Amino acid sequence: MSHWLQVVVAAPAHSSIAGPLTYQSELPLPVGSLVRVPLGRREVLGVVWEVLPDSGALLEMQTRHVAGVLEGLPPLSATWRKLVQFTAGYYQRSLGEVALAALPPQLRDLSSVQLARRLKRPVADTSHAPATTNLIALSQEQTRAIAEFDADSRPALLFGATGSGKTEVYLRAAARVLEQDPSAQVLVMVPEINLTPQLQSRFAERFAHLGKERVVALHSGLTPAQRLKSWLAAHAGHARLVLGTRMAVFASMPNLRLLVVDEEHDPSYKQQEGARYSARDLAVYRAKIETEDATHAHGPCRVLLGSATPSLESWQATLTGRYQRLTMSERVAADEGEQGSLPTVRRVDMNHQPKHCVIAPPLLDAIAQRIARGEQSLIFLNRRGYAPVLACHDCGWKSECPHCSAYRVFHKIDRTLRCHHCGFTERVPRACPACGNIDIAPVGRGTERLEEHLAELLAGVKRPDGEPPRIARIDADTTRLKGALESQLASVHAGEVDVLVGTQMIAKGHDFRHITLVAAINPDGALFSSDFRAPERLFSLLMQAGGRAGRDARHSDASEMWVQTFHPTHPLFEALKKHDYPGFADQQLAEREAAGMSPFGFSALVRAEARAQDVAQGFLNAAAAQAEAQQLTGNGQVTAYPAVPMTIQRVANIERAQMLVESPSRAALQRFLSAWQPMLFETRQQAEFKSLIRWAIDVDPIAI
Ligand code: ADP
Ligand code: ZN
Ligand code: ZN
Repeated sequence: MSHWLQVVVAAPAHSSIAGPLTYQSELPLPVGSLVRVPLGRREVLGVVWEVLPDSGALLEMQTRHVAGVLEGLPPLSATWRKLVQFTAGYYQRSLGEVALAALPPQLRDLSSVQLARRLKRPVADTSHAPATTNLIALSQEQTRAIAEFDADSRPALLFGATGSGKTEVYLRAAARVLEQDPSAQVLVMVPEINLTPQLQSRFAERFAHLGKERVVALHSGLTPAQRLKSWLAAHAGHARLVLGTRMAVFASMPNLRLLVVDEEHDPSYKQQEGARYSARDLAVYRAKIETEDATHAHGPCRVLLGSATPSLESWQATLTGRYQRLTMSERVAADEGEQGSLPTVRRVDMNHQPKHCVIAPPLLDAIAQRIARGEQSLIFLNRRGYAPVLACHDCGWKSECPHCSAYRVFHKIDRTLRCHHCGFTERVPRACPACGNIDIAPVGRGTERLEEHLAELLAGVKRPDGEPPRIARIDADTTRLKGALESQLASVHAGEVDVLVGTQMIAKGHDFRHITLVAAINPDGALFSSDFRAPERLFSLLMQAGGRAGRDARHSDASEMWVQTFHPTHPLFEALKKHDYPGFADQQLAEREAAGMSPFGFSALVRAEARAQDVAQGFLNAAAAQAEAQQLTGNGQVTAYPAVPMTIQRVANIERAQMLVESPSRAALQRFLSAWQPMLFETRQQAEFKSLIRWAIDVDPIAI
């Protein structure tokens, strides 16, 4: 007897396969089973999504047979399927794309024998007693935060200053859940795992007593084999704690009881291609459906978001009471010492500094003093390379990228001009390619030039041991090789560096102990950006960078955060000076409310790419006109603005355009997008848009 099944398979984003496909199977297979099915001439991995009731119509249909079942593998849970279904619907992608992207591709190739071996329970490891002894005493604020978290059931936002000990709160909350229920699982998400090797080892150490293979990692830096291993451990319930990046939100965890999202404001939680999901938002949704799942005899599933500078969306949710807010405003006291305090913020008014100076004299002085005392400084500039542009002052030639509407960046170390958008790289010309002038010069500066400049400026300064200062740089260029970042960070921790220059890579998470000065060289750009989220990102970056200073109480009295700016009285810097995130948030939320922007309004961007700008824009405008004609926009509930070129209009010779769609109602926007999507597909088929390369919808975009 045959059984008919709806099976979800990976479908190329815009293929005609949007929903599940029908297959037949001799064996009855439960929903959620992982199967191999024929698709065209290939055999692909699929998930049984629905079992169809028998009917005569099915008997007449020419359906292919399921080729194999991944035996011994428990089916994916109803909650997991619901999460995938929701993601596909909300972010306007196909079910198959979302479902299969969430599974390790190597699953398909496992034989039954291999599967059986891999699914064997790890031997219980009872040699380690729970490490509940030797724990550090919690601060009052930590104790209160945990008690409040336990007493509530809403999603919680831990609003904790840098160095207030948020990680310890995550560890305790996780430990509690794992102790109470021997099968409970915890998911901890971090923005970029490579940037926080410390965090990973803290979790691994704390839960070492659970036994080997109970704490696993899930992120894109793993090899396919490692990813498969972690995934299986989580799916089989062997892994008690999964530590991962945004992709981990889709980990199959049959008994998930707690989700932690560290640095919840971080932009890297938003996937920027394929299904453009927000892992933070999905974590909140997942906790809700895991709780509702009636098959759980266990307690609810909680979600704990944490940040020193929460996203304005999460902050607003604590103001309305949708989320619970847990506050820790003080730094913890390390080693019986006194409390580390937050750095004093000094704004340097660049209008009153020598013309063209890069480092203002008082800042240079302060750095020199740190070196002489044997303390470290961190100098932050969010632009890598030597200089963003190379220019000829005779004829006005600039190092434009021939393929992009952007300049190529001058990298002095290998004397190249590199485009950071398409990767096009050439050797630096000896003379101006336009007029032959040999006097071409770098304009502006990146971290490479800043490092060189600092070495010159600090040449006369001596360390306590009489040696010259050691200057190092950390950015995407210095950390290309595997392990490079870890070793560079280790040398900072070991005190082998006096002045560290870098991009935002050095501003995040690191628990540096000997830094007493942090300086932002040129942060003004974001103040007047056309992207309404730019100030939020700048504020959190500066707070985070400042958070690297004075983490050790022995130095913290003198710790300082310097900001060089031409707009010292800008409200953003006023708030920064007072470490006043709530004040900053108030001010931003008021602006956003007045403008109907997130979190008071909802938006989506539709992006289109073509060889010609008018094709990309034409496609978007034509599809919008159709929506208008069909009255999809309701009674003005949804607004679709005319298509415009993207800020960087051309990348690798491809023209890019975007259209903003807005609504004060999330539901109305969702309805509009679902109804509009088929029209976008249709418009794409029209002769005049045949040359369109691709288009995609980005719901809740984080950059506009
Ligand atoms: P955050 O994530 O809030 O910036 P961390 O969790 O990294 O802060 O904590 C900062 C430092 O303080 C870490 O070195 C951590 O080990 C230490 N720490 C955390 N809680 C305590 C505590 N209760 N007593 C002593 N030290 C603590
Ligand atoms: Zn020239
Ligand atoms: Zn380019």
